[in-house]
Amino acid sequence: MRSYRKELWFNVPTRRAFINITSEVQQCIDDSGIKEGLVLCNAMHITASVFINDDESGLHHDYDVWLEKLAPHEPVSQYRHNVGEDNADAHMKRQIMGREVVVAVTDGKLDLGTWERIFYGEFDGRRKKRALVKIIGD
Ligand code: ZN
Repeated sequence: MRSYRKELWFNVPTRRAFINITSEVQQCIDDSGIKEGLVLCNAMHITASVFINDDESGLHHDYDVWLEKLAPHEPVSQYRHNVGEDNADAHMKRQIMGREVVVAVTDGKLDLGTWERIFYGEFDGRRKKRALVKIIGD
């Protein structure tokens, strides 16, 4: 069995964003040479997510509105976590959107459903952050 590891780095200029990383993850599979196996991709921060859904801008707007209803950023004083920081809402948004995805690798390709794409979800950006890609297989 072979394994491959890479960190994908982000420096999102806004507090929140959704970034399609499907092609970067596929590039990791290409670089690994692994044809059959599994790829894990996870955010390495507790205020960011990796998830799979549709690459459709209306849906991404709807996610942002929905997440702001569930865990509004303002007023920051409503959260006990916000002592010396202001990102309690980002922790909660990450919890809802998830930490990681696992996708099958078949014949050297991401074995995704027709409309499935992999996203990095940023909820407390404006600094350097990263996601891990780990691939195992043969
Ligand atoms: Zn925090």
